Amino acid sequence: MGERKVVRTTCKGCHGGCGVLVTVEDGVIVHVEGDPQSMTEGTMCAKGLAQLQHVNSPYRLKYPIQRTGKKGEGKWRRISWDEALDTIAEKCKEAREKYGPHTVAISQGTGRGANRYIHRLARSLGSANAITPGYVCHSPRIGIYGLVTGYGRLYCDYHGWGGEYPKTQIVLAKQLEISSADSEMAHWFMKSLDYVKNLIVIDPRATAMTSRATVWCQLRPGTDAALLLGMMNVIIQEELYDKEFVENWTYGFEELKKRAAEYPLEKVEQITWVPKEKIAQAARLFAIDTPGTIQVGSSLERQANAGQNIRCVVDLLGITGNVERPGSMMSWVLPSTGLIEDFFNEIPITPEMKAKIKGGDIHKMGAARTAHSDTVIKQIAAGDPDMIRVWIAVAGQQLVHLANTPEVIKAYESEEYFRVQLDLFMGPAAEYADIVLPVAHHYEMDDIYDMHPRFFISAHNKCVEPPGEAKSDAWIVLEIGKRVVPKYWPWNTVEEMLDFQLRKGNITWKEFSKQVIVACTGKDQIYYKYKTDYWRKGGGFPTPTGKLELYSTVLEEMGYDPLPQFVEPGESPVSTPEIYKEFPLVLTTGYRQPFYFLAQYRNIPWLRSFMVHHTTQIHPETAGKYGIKDGEWMWIESPRGRIRQLARVTPGILPGVVMATANAFYPEEPGPLHGLKISNPNMLTSNDHFDPMYGAPDLTCLLCKVYPVEKKDMADLPK
Ligand code: SF4
Repeated sequence: MGERKVVRTTCKGCHGGCGVLVTVEDGVIVHVEGDPQSMTEGTMCAKGLAQLQHVNSPYRLKYPIQRTGKKGEGKWRRISWDEALDTIAEKCKEAREKYGPHTVAISQGTGRGANRYIHRLARSLGSANAITPGYVCHSPRIGIYGLVTGYGRLYCDYHGWGGEYPKTQIVLAKQLEISSADSEMAHWFMKSLDYVKNLIVIDPRATAMTSRATVWCQLRPGTDAALLLGMMNVIIQEELYDKEFVENWTYGFEELKKRAAEYPLEKVEQITWVPKEKIAQAARLFAIDTPGTIQVGSSLERQANAGQNIRCVVDLLGITGNVERPGSMMSWVLPSTGLIEDFFNEIPITPEMKAKIKGGDIHKMGAARTAHSDTVIKQIAAGDPDMIRVWIAVAGQQLVHLANTPEVIKAYESEEYFRVQLDLFMGPAAEYADIVLPVAHHYEMDDIYDMHPRFFISAHNKCVEPPGEAKSDAWIVLEIGKRVVPKYWPWNTVEEMLDFQLRKGNITWKEFSKQVIVACTGKDQIYYKYKTDYWRKGGGFPTPTGKLELYSTVLEEMGYDPLPQFVEPGESPVSTPEIYKEFPLVLTTGYRQPFYFLAQYRNIPWLRSFMVHHTTQIHPETAGKYGIKDGEWMWIESPRGRIRQLARVTPGILPGVVMATANAFYPEEPGPLHGLKISNPNMLTSNDHFDPMYGAPDLTCLLCKVYPVEKKDMADLPK
């Protein structure tokens, strides 16, 4: 045997930061396993273990390539890194001069650390048009939690550091099984279940958690806010709220009381399809058996009522006193290194940059620092003279996850803008690029994990060399930045740049790399910050009123409803009864599997073997009515198009609701689309109706009809 080593590092297979031990033999990764010394105590999920096949995949991109044909035609030539980077730099300079700095956009996929690089690159180029999926995933939570409590990150305290664990937990519309795949939080969540008394699951479909639930509210997709307002009404009417907390530490209780009174149980049952007894039971348990937590799924944010959905969550927490108390929702104290994200925040967005944010008028709240993706797409597709001219995508499959796939394809095909894609594999997004840059896997690079929940950071340590000429995304961004705006990118190496990011913790990259984790846990955490001088001298929340704002003064000032509210989805049995006649089923497009991470991993054999074709869940009653058979192909048709997925007939889904697998494409199918039109639910979604706060379209609550696929329509289906 040649050289063998075990590297202590951090998994980046999803947003999580699970500690990993990676075994390397002769420069090749041969084994990965959980690190018992880490925050996640040796646990890993299927995706994490399958990184072995991911990193060693024969399909990895190895060299920079430039297209020689039309966009999407699949004609490429290999180029050197210098040629690639110089060309990209020239295109950035040209766009900045000719059309303005705001026409250069930098995007990310799920980010996972790359977000601080993409924001810094965009800002250093004079553009606030950073494109992220945050507006349909997590940004509403950060923003609304921030407005109401003054602090933008509230996390479930599953840790027991303050002497208590949550007694009642609400798991709200997780499209993904939290028990098996939702980053490091899955591990802590599962551990906390040893202490939980009541588990309340709010979800239209059965999950591993519903079998353990005390109450399972199987709601009509898109009606979460009505359900939460109904719960608040029960809690207020029955005087079960936390009187001491409400009286001393909240603002606007009387106004909230009036708003909640608009949601009596009978009305809420009618809206949500959840029996009123269950809603009342859930409300009472959450108010009485405290402390409690609410684990929020991103399906709440994939609705045109996204902002208000989160308003409901935080007000429910507020009236039950479930903020800052041990075992409730916490804003964690950061580790000694501070916020690594400051790496981009130190370049502020100027008023001129802000004024040029794409879609700033559509998503006023989201436009604090990011572009509205759907607006970017619409402008490119329409050939708007002010459209984005250079788009550098640091991974990400916007072509797959954005609403209205046909329009997104049209935008991707446009020859009027220059597109760069950084990626590990060729996929639908890279197929339409001008230049594709091969990136290193996270086991092939040095970087810092700084994602949620923010009480620790950990090291992504390089275990092996990347294949061919692949480079880390940090290196690529640094090289582009140095070529165009060198004053913002003064570092000669990635290591120097990492030293800079860690400087507040008085630790160098080399030291951190050995230490692997810097954390603030246990007794170092501070509970009940509002009772101390932590946020405000004399106590209070860091909000304009110094209180947790059940009635948001900031939203009022911005012209929004200051109180939580339910708004029917843009297309639903109630809001569009005419469409409902022809499309009589509620469609939710957010079905996600624990072995995929959004658009990733369908090309990993171990993971793909769990689900070869994309499936749609449908109840036996509904299936019987429309001639759908389990395991057979079905059409799902909305007013905008139709797709085919395999039927999964299960009593676990609410009758009358159809849940289609999201991000559905087939990497093995021919490019440029790789089977995207066959099964991708965004062929059915619309990008014309948005959440007025964050700009989310209705992705998880639409209307559809279903029918079997006839033999004549099966010829092009993946085998
Ligand atoms: S949960 Fe995420 S970070 Fe943890 S092992 Fe799985 S893929 Fe890796």
